[in-house]
Amino acid sequence: MPLNYRGKILFHSERCVGCKLCQKDCPANAIFINKVGDKRFEAVFKFDHCIYCAQCVDSCNKDALEATPEFELATFSRPNLTVTYHAPPPPPPPAQATPPANVPPTDPAKSA
Ligand code: SF4
Ligand code: SF4
Repeated sequence: MPLNYRGKILFHSERCVGCKLCQKDCPANAIFINKVGDKRFEAVFKFDHCIYCAQCVDSCNKDALEATPEFELATFSRPNLTVTYHAPPPPPPPAQATPPANVPPTDPAKSA
């Protein structure tokens, strides 16, 4: 495909900050950004509405959206064209601090 061909849009959730500029600027109402956790976002694309203009890619200043060369999207089932890019799982909670080991009490008579 030609360089910079505007095909199916890809979403990099780990770069998204949830500003929703892409959603506001989309002329076809084809992209929805949802917050799914602390600093975690998913993107829902309606590729049956998308006009493949890549305005969302230009609007995103975090490089979280990318136009791929993928163009073979035809399907007999329209719901197949609604695609959700899920956020990666949340990081595990920080490990608990280990309690200090039991220190036997010292005998004051011996320490004198
Ligand atoms: S413009 Fe970029 S950073 Fe902002 S919500 Fe869209 S994908 Fe995320
Ligand atoms: S490529 Fe254009 S129509 Fe498709 S989601 Fe992005 S801004 Fe909307």
